Amino acid sequence: MSDIDTASRRLADIRARIAHAAALADRDPAAIELIAISKTKPAEAIAPLIAAGQTGFGENRVQEAEAKWPALREGRGLRLHLVGQLQSNKAKEAVALFDAIHSVDRPSLIEALARAMDGAGRRPDCFVQVNIGAEEQKGGCAIDGLPAMLARAGDAGLPVVGLMAVPPADVEPAPYFALLAKLAKRHGLAGLSMGMSGDFETAVMLGATHVRVGTALFGAR
Ligand SMILES: *Cc1c(COP(=O)(O)O)cnc(C)c1O
Repeated sequence: MSDIDTASRRLADIRARIAHAAALADRDPAAIELIAISKTKPAEAIAPLIAAGQTGFGENRVQEAEAKWPALREGRGLRLHLVGQLQSNKAKEAVALFDAIHSVDRPSLIEALARAMDGAGRRPDCFVQVNIGAEEQKGGCAIDGLPAMLARAGDAGLPVVGLMAVPPADVEPAPYFALLAKLAKRHGLAGLSMGMSGDFETAVMLGATHVRVGTALFGAR
């Protein structure tokens, strides 16, 4: 099978599973954006998925994305998402390259992104990342710090469209997805970036608007 056939087959499978989960939850599948997480994958592995019709991609490192994407996306109308921790000193590069940033999680980064957006005259969609399982080693703001973080992002003029989280590994993710959905609703945010290869159907059933799928589309990293 050609690389494009393999990519097409995987993409059709993931799309069908999203549509099925959406139908079970009485949701419109068109309201769910599939982001193909291409971190660590070389351009040759990504090109077949672009050829198969995938338009949204995600990376977790600014430098890696800067090396791969300008050539890959050229003239193609793709949308690029940053899903990894962002250092404030990379805010300018991130704002220049990405269409959405899913890892806004602290005041210093909010200020750096606001300055970068003002300078670039470009305002990528922002998701505030929540440390939904209160894990020490994880990125994201604490749940009880979320109201202040959203207020600060609003004051700084960031276009916050939703919340993002990665639930703790190796436990049932549904309660964490439900909690993130509750928090988004409480704050009047429509966007919910949640769900990865192992749990995106559950996330869709609980309201995800953006699912971030890597290995199920590209194979193991
Ligand atoms: C790597 C990554 C993903 C994709 O994970 P898979 O299990 O490969 O689907 C999603 N979200 C974030 C934040 C990631 O870092």
